[in-house]
Amino acid sequence: MRISLILLIIFIFNVIFFCPILVIKAEAEVNQERSLAMEDVKSSLFVLPALPYEEDALQPVISAKTLSFHYGKHHRGYVNKLNELVSGTEFVGLALEEVIEKTADKADKTAIFNNAAQVWNHNFYWNSLSPKGGGKPTGKIGKKIEADFGSYENFVQQFSQAGIAQFGSGWVWLIEDAGTLRIIKTANAENPISQKNGKAILVLDVWEHAYYLDYQNLRSDHLKAVIDKLINWEFAERNLKRDK
Ligand code: FE
Repeated sequence: MRISLILLIIFIFNVIFFCPILVIKAEAEVNQERSLAMEDVKSSLFVLPALPYEEDALQPVISAKTLSFHYGKHHRGYVNKLNELVSGTEFVGLALEEVIEKTADKADKTAIFNNAAQVWNHNFYWNSLSPKGGGKPTGKIGKKIEADFGSYENFVQQFSQAGIAQFGSGWVWLIEDAGTLRIIKTANAENPISQKNGKAILVLDVWEHAYYLDYQNLRSDHLKAVIDKLINWEFAERNLKRDK
């Protein structure tokens, strides 16, 4: 009888002591699974990359105010809208380039295309500029510019002219097409991926939001200053060497 009582006390003690531990452990495992699931969701979202420089780094050519609105409102807005639009679709988890390729020229996917392409274009644009940029390029890109445009001065003239001539919102690109550098302009969110016309080397944004606070309607003054002072030729050189 006494042994049975002792066993009963031990049993009750175990139940009281170990049950809460098992419950806590089970809850911890559930929480861990939930947090892993959240990580999956987060990693499949499109992100706004950090700017490669401070917001005031491109002054006086591009003011901190313009950069703050352009990056913090416009670029961020495209990223947020894209995530909202692709939620629950086959585009979740794809690379931006794949989303652009799969939605270009699809009438029922225009909104996804516009936001995906605008995210890609702005990612590329920030890297096309540098506080230490501008001037005549050296290296392989310098030689290609001279070979394909006749001179750096010709390139500057043609690049700025294409930016001025783009009617309404758009972009002016330096691309490499079948081994030759070319300048093209695209409207709205279009880019060399959607138009399948070569490898992007550099881009300038000619939407009004890129310059209006600093230059009002004088797009040509903005383009001239950006080309003279900010073009990131090191980025162009790296793009010349990349495969696609
Ligand atoms: Fe822009």
